Amino acid sequence: MPIAQVIVDVPTSQTNTPYSYGISDQLLDIIQVGMRVLVPFGRRQVVGFVVKLTDNQTFSGKLKNIIAPVDLQPVLNKELLQLARWMAADTYSFLISCLQTIIPGGMRTKAKKFLTVTDEAVLGDNADIFQGHAQIEYVAKELDKSQLKRISSLIQQGLVSEHYSLSNHAHQLTQTAIKAAKSEVELTKIQDELPNNAKAQWRLLELLKQGTEPILQTEAANHKITGSTIKLAEQKGWLTKIQVAKNRNPFTSAVTKSQPLTLNPEQANAVQTINASIDRGANQTFLLEGVTGSGKTEVYLQIIANALQQGKTAMLLVPEITLTPQIVGRIRSRFGEQVAMMHSSMSVGERFDEWRRIESGAAKVVVGVRSAVFVPLDNIGVIIMDEEHDSSYKQEENPRYQTRDVAKWRGAYHKCPVVLGSATPSLETRARAGKGVYQRLVLAHRINDQALPEVEIVDMKQEIAGGPDSDLSASLLTAIEMKLKRHEQIILMLNRRGYSSFVLCRNCGFVPKCPNCDISLTYHKDLGQLKCHYCGFTRPMPRKCDQCGSTKLRQLGMGSQKLEETVNRLFPTARVLRMDVDTTRKKGAHERIIKQFSEQQADILVGTQMIAKGLDFPNVTLVGVLNADTGLEFPDFRSSERTFELLTQVAGRAGRADKAGQVIIQTFNPDHYAILLAQTQNYEEFYRTEMKVRHAGKYPPYYFTVKITLSAENEKQVVAQSFAVLNQLQQRLSPNAVILGPTPKVIKRINRRYYYQIIIKYRQEPTLSTTLTELLNQAQQKSKSGIQIGIDNEPMDFM
Ligand code: ADP
Ligand code: ZN
Ligand code: ZN
Repeated sequence: MPIAQVIVDVPTSQTNTPYSYGISDQLLDIIQVGMRVLVPFGRRQVVGFVVKLTDNQTFSGKLKNIIAPVDLQPVLNKELLQLARWMAADTYSFLISCLQTIIPGGMRTKAKKFLTVTDEAVLGDNADIFQGHAQIEYVAKELDKSQLKRISSLIQQGLVSEHYSLSNHAHQLTQTAIKAAKSEVELTKIQDELPNNAKAQWRLLELLKQGTEPILQTEAANHKITGSTIKLAEQKGWLTKIQVAKNRNPFTSAVTKSQPLTLNPEQANAVQTINASIDRGANQTFLLEGVTGSGKTEVYLQIIANALQQGKTAMLLVPEITLTPQIVGRIRSRFGEQVAMMHSSMSVGERFDEWRRIESGAAKVVVGVRSAVFVPLDNIGVIIMDEEHDSSYKQEENPRYQTRDVAKWRGAYHKCPVVLGSATPSLETRARAGKGVYQRLVLAHRINDQALPEVEIVDMKQEIAGGPDSDLSASLLTAIEMKLKRHEQIILMLNRRGYSSFVLCRNCGFVPKCPNCDISLTYHKDLGQLKCHYCGFTRPMPRKCDQCGSTKLRQLGMGSQKLEETVNRLFPTARVLRMDVDTTRKKGAHERIIKQFSEQQADILVGTQMIAKGLDFPNVTLVGVLNADTGLEFPDFRSSERTFELLTQVAGRAGRADKAGQVIIQTFNPDHYAILLAQTQNYEEFYRTEMKVRHAGKYPPYYFTVKITLSAENEKQVVAQSFAVLNQLQQRLSPNAVILGPTPKVIKRINRRYYYQIIIKYRQEPTLSTTLTELLNQAQQKSKSGIQIGIDNEPMDFM
């Protein structure tokens, strides 16, 4: 009797060892590896993934049987199952959370599944299942085994399709179409017999004669054929009505076709080298290091074209922030309908449709954010990661995977090259290229040898403090005025990493804090509220100080909203747009702001980091950075790298076309190397300087790192547990490993929980992996007593 090995989804007793279940005869042909199934677990019924089917009965007790399949087709193929196993080991997480991460969001628990009939005939033959409805909700246990068998074969034949939706209906996904019920000859005969005034019927018959493909009712309407004409024709038996699935199209605007550009010599060299690797099927990693505006995207487009020509597929990953309509438009205008997009702001249904298009082979190019690295693309010819240094590629919750590593794993599986592109590569990547582990390809020049923008550094300590507009230096004010006069555009960026505007009592110095977290509340002027950015706590803006009752409450710090107000006041005739988390919350808002700005409906774009990356506005000639150094004050070994990267990126927004660009950086640390080197956009010099700092501090890329975070509501408990973990590590690891902590996190208390951390820095620790895996398994027991333990392999920061 065959046995299914199933990884079950039970939060408190997770294990990476599968449980065995029997398969009843009726389900034999239905259950496949990679499907989700409903199984008995203790007294409950839980969902699990079938990871293997075996025949040998090693289990001696009586096996329980699988109750029902949750999916009618596997949701994970062999490659992705294998990937999940590797990822669980690499990120110290449970297999079940990796499996859940790999399938698209919509397939996880909350979504409902619908079956849609795409051919009328199916309804009649399967009345017991569909009961005359073109669409039904699929609930695993409601159908018997013979019905399941029929449905899975109908799906295989393409007569029934599956959809996921978070709402109670997925019916917006189907539309009515008509299909000829008679042959062309018969239809012509009917046409000939029509009275002269039956023009609409004549047009309908003409349309029906055109082919066998279903005609959408909306299409018929374009030919001035009304619903009543169709109804009449249906009654006469000329046609049948059917429901066809309609793909939700996540692309909102149509695009015009673009042609490959003639490459400059550096681009051509990069394209040739990578293409040779694609053609050979070589699993090789490239670092494409190109200054901003050097034409990296055109290189991506041309290597993707080559992969397609070879009959292969391609994946282009971009950071969350840069997946803008601009880049999507550029890809789509080259590759059209073959492109699938994966973005977190798409609806569950939209993502699922794209996933199916990829799985079925209809989409051959995928452009998407972090999670798109898991799409079921087959026969991959090249994987590209744009802005490979970007921190959004690291997932900050379980499983804490680094997209770059997943991309490399898939590259090895598909025997294809992986291209890491950046103007400011991560130190890890650049160091590997230096050692020859990666092949380095350099684009040192901007397109048309356009000069890099001139960067001026303004020392804010020298600016007269206290003036009402001291947020904007004299140089910046003058420059804005000049650009406005010339009708050129301006970007003003506020570096808001860990920075917020808070309220201070000028009488006693009191700052309102969150009652649940160790953090000051942020003032939101539009809402008249104070808000905690960590737990969501809000309270109305107080009129009086909580502590002394004074009314002298003053807003400190600078928010983008306040900056917008200042700019509006100083330049009343300028048209100002703001882009930050508040103005882009609504779906499509981000897109709209970019469109307005690129159509020059505004003169000044004010915003946060969001505006630093990836955007290409030819008319922008001035970029001002209001506070370059807020990131530098962070107690984190990557703060210089982040600051350098951000300033280089934002400076790259200026002067991208034929007009020269100007950048003004305001800072309190004008002598800091990250700022000075960003001024000349000298990445290589920054790399050398920063490597020395990293070497001295035993930081990556010289050392590997692991961060262990412990939290509990009771501080004593978490401290005691942290020392127990420390003890365990000290006993198991070699004296060469550096173990730091336990120390409270920078923000010690969040949402009523206390957070402590331990950092491990090491070069070679053969026992580390087993030690951490043990810790992971113990952590589950601990979670029952309220302690949570998280392990982060190669964390992005030590905070
Ligand atoms: P990067 O991604 O390196 O910042 P982009 O790919 O956005 O640079 O290129 C900058 C601009 O140069 C874009 O407007 C692009 O269309 C244009 N461009 C790129 N390659 C060429 C080329 N070979 N010839 C002409 N224009 C090009
Ligand atoms: Zn006070
Ligand atoms: Zn809070």
